[in-house]
Amino acid sequence: MKVFDSHAHLDDNRYDADREEVLERSLRELAGVINPGTDLADSKVAVELARRYDRVWAAVGFHPHEARLMQAGDEARLAELTGEQKVVAIGEIGLDYYYDHSPRDVQQAVLTRQLDLARQLSLPVIIHDRDAHGDIMAIIKREGKGLPGVFHCYSGSLEMAQELIKLGFYVSFGGPLTFGNAVKLQEIARKVPLERVLLETDSPYLTPHPLRGRRNEPMHVRLVAEALAQLRGLPVEAVAEVTTRNVEALFGLSVSQ
Ligand SMILES: [Zn+2]
Repeated sequence: MKVFDSHAHLDDNRYDADREEVLERSLRELAGVINPGTDLADSKVAVELARRYDRVWAAVGFHPHEARLMQAGDEARLAELTGEQKVVAIGEIGLDYYYDHSPRDVQQAVLTRQLDLARQLSLPVIIHDRDAHGDIMAIIKREGKGLPGVFHCYSGSLEMAQELIKLGFYVSFGGPLTFGNAVKLQEIARKVPLERVLLETDSPYLTPHPLRGRRNEPMHVRLVAEALAQLRGLPVEAVAEVTTRNVEALFGLSVSQ
């Protein structure tokens, strides 16, 4: 079984010159890719890519950076996009207190609205959390009860990961797992149950070691899988097998055509 990149922004304009080739070489190496949306227009592009490529799936939603752009009635527009069979989640949604591109109260309200939407549509959620652990856990517990989902590019503590897993969430690791100074993250990746772990690139960002400094591509998720395999003393094939099955279980998709 091949590795699955559960989070890549293939619609990013850094791929405008060679998107076709990036997708083709990535899909040769991978089981598949999920492209999350960051606002309404971008979600439409993500859905379009999923339509065009066999093993590309999409998620739709407003990223916390773009939370201020969500209009009244956008729930219905997002819901309409989820009519497409290859839209497998609401995301990415969440809180980002590092950049604060949208006011925090707006981020919180928009997150809550989209958790409600996910529940109505019976879809899992893809959560972005940067420097907002306390508030996001409070909102998830209050408004996200029973919703399955993933904390992408996980950056919390081991205790928080264990709590999330109890709530039914997965945690996803990307390029930072390969960084020499990521001791805390590597410790978490060693200890959480592998049945609750996903892998990702967050392309074009967060390029893994030893390729740091270059644009990231989905195929580099292999380096993240190798880092996790080494941390856990497993063959990389075993890590690929379990984490790809996890993607299938969480998002209700099948890579085995
Ligand atoms: Zn992202």
